[in-house]
Amino acid sequence: MKTSVFATVIAASLATAASAEGVLNIYSSRHYDTDERLYGDFEEATGITINRIEGNADELIARMEAEGANSPADVLITVDTSRLARAKDAGILQSVESDVLEDKIPSNLQDADNQWFGFSQRARIFFYAKDSVDTPPATYLELADPAYKGKVCIRSSTNTYNQTLLAAIVTNHGEDAAKTWAEGVVANMAREPQGGDTDQLRGLVSGECDIAVSNSYYFARALRSDVEGISADIDKIAWLFPAQEAEGAHMNLSGAGVAAHAPNRDNAVKFLEYLASDQAQVYFSNGNDEFPAVPGVALADNVAKLGSFKADEVNLSEVAKNIPTAQKIFNEVGWK
Ligand code: FE
Repeated sequence: MKTSVFATVIAASLATAASAEGVLNIYSSRHYDTDERLYGDFEEATGITINRIEGNADELIARMEAEGANSPADVLITVDTSRLARAKDAGILQSVESDVLEDKIPSNLQDADNQWFGFSQRARIFFYAKDSVDTPPATYLELADPAYKGKVCIRSSTNTYNQTLLAAIVTNHGEDAAKTWAEGVVANMAREPQGGDTDQLRGLVSGECDIAVSNSYYFARALRSDVEGISADIDKIAWLFPAQEAEGAHMNLSGAGVAAHAPNRDNAVKFLEYLASDQAQVYFSNGNDEFPAVPGVALADNVAKLGSFKADEVNLSEVAKNIPTAQKIFNEVGWK
């Protein structure tokens, strides 16, 4: 009861808050404190006041569905293609025609109907213990090779990063190959899936894992600042971008879309265009250790240290269609 009253109060204050240039109501599931800078810079540049509601992606999507045409939400920001696709399927986003967004955001990083756009990327790659692995797997498919039995740490199949990775493998290699791969990875696990990506990296330091799958920004963060259980021993960890002779490294996307019933639609489009600007794109690398979505934007030193690589340019809007297949495969092979 208390929760719903609280939610109503927030919604009311979002709808009535105002400034000369108006307001922008953002629902965000990005879990990074440093995003404050992005919002502050936009407010300063435009005079538009940002109101924010943060929560987990599924809750925010459910909330927007429940609020329907009365939703105060103007923009939904979230991580992972699967969630952007889920928001589109739920009917809570609208198409946006913007020359700026079309020009700046590569076509493989945006929805076919322009309901969402990717603004930053993270490479989902292999990390390994230098002293115990001589020949790391060179491709995603090779991670399932029996040579790596008992060596692999990777998080649960409930994690959207893994769902999208498997959906990309379905897209690139077909459903049968994807299922064989998932079976092989389960057989190679060093332990039952547990924790987040950072915990897989910690397992390399503790010796529990020899090979770990993680998004690049968790490792880049440990290069830049002290991450417990990793940074002090980071020299023990090597990394590689998989599939460089094949499809390229799988890229996990963070993106945003304009809400279907956005009360401040023009401001919402302005905000998305701002996210595609050089100023905001540089921030994604400097502030959160990600790769910018806009080609040619400079990388932070710790991100550049990961080295240049070939990214998989498979259309993520197509990959999103294979997420139900990925979930089915995870269940079939018993990937916890
Ligand atoms: Fe994350």
